Amino acid sequence: DLVLSFESSCDETSVAVIENGNKILSNIVATQIKSHQRFGGVVPEVASRHHIEQITGCINDALKEADVTYDDLTSVAVTYGPGLVGALLIGVTAAKVVAWAHNLPLVPVNHLAGHIYAARLVEPIEFPAMALVVSGGHTELVYMPEEDKFEIIGETRDDAAGEAYDKVGRVLGINYPAGKPVDELARKGHDTFKFPRAMDSDDNFDFSFSGLKSAFINTVHHADQIHEKLSREDLAASFQQAVVDVLADKTDRALKEFPVKQLILAGGVAANKGLRERLTKNLQAFKNTKLELVPLSLCGDNAAMIGAAGEMLYRHGARADATLNADPGLEFEWLKDEEK
Ligand code: ATP
Ligand code: MG
Ligand code: FE
Repeated sequence: DLVLSFESSCDETSVAVIENGNKILSNIVATQIKSHQRFGGVVPEVASRHHIEQITGCINDALKEADVTYDDLTSVAVTYGPGLVGALLIGVTAAKVVAWAHNLPLVPVNHLAGHIYAARLVEPIEFPAMALVVSGGHTELVYMPEEDKFEIIGETRDDAAGEAYDKVGRVLGINYPAGKPVDELARKGHDTFKFPRAMDSDDNFDFSFSGLKSAFINTVHHADQIHEKLSREDLAASFQQAVVDVLADKTDRALKEFPVKQLILAGGVAANKGLRERLTKNLQAFKNTKLELVPLSLCGDNAAMIGAAGEMLYRHGARADATLNADPGLEFEWLKDEEK
């Protein structure tokens, strides 16, 4: 089984070839970060143009590196949401063209299912499983009773974790995307500011990061006004500790209510060292739950994870035709549909 997979939901153009849903034969990722940095974030129109320029080269490189031809392929998988509509459309259109021209089944993939299924490229996922998906646009606890069932049991009420990192980073003078540099700065400081941990003790699995972000910004602005110099390391460490505390505490609560065989940490923010260490420590208390940290190289957006999810969805009969459209606000819908 060989999947040719496409990812273009944000600022990475990526095409991969995945064998049997779990082996990466190639995973070409063309990033556009440099083009967006001078604007301090992803500019949708700029992103679309880059995808158009990159996509054909990515397809050719992915096939070449995997040493396969179109004739060897079993299916084509593509991210059709959530994400930037203009960006998504490039991948969706390219995938449709390849599927149509080579008479291959087209499999529509939810970007977040892809982030979760990146775990499968390391080890088989055992079900029931729980995933903490932390990325630039999402912060969700997803319960998976079976491999094709996704239930969001908790999510952010405002900012996503990655978004908060990027905004706080900007205040510290760090360029987009700020997650990694803030993480590194945090490791040199201490939690001296004791920022708020919103909703931490609430009896649910939801998150909120906008209050933390505001507290951070107010602290920095106030210090500026009275010409007080604050430690950037301590600011970063205090912010990171607050984020990690809430994510870890809510995950603990979720694992107690939904006992699972595996916890998957996925999404761009899953690369965070502080979060990885904390979950590793916390999971020692859950003897029957194995922790699967998506490897750093697969935390960010890539097509390999889309192929990994695509193979699973293909087996479950997911198919799209030439009418497939980008769905910027796509949610995990199939479990909800079955409940109806
Ligand atoms: P989504 O997946 O929700 O559609 P996205 O695809 O834009 O959003 P990803 O590419 O999955 O998001 O993740 C990017 C985010 O991860 C950025 O906000 C970035 O700052 C953050 N990030 C990357 N590395 C780290 C890190 N070490 N610590 C914290 N955040 C990080
Ligand atoms: Mg990205
Ligand atoms: Fe993503």
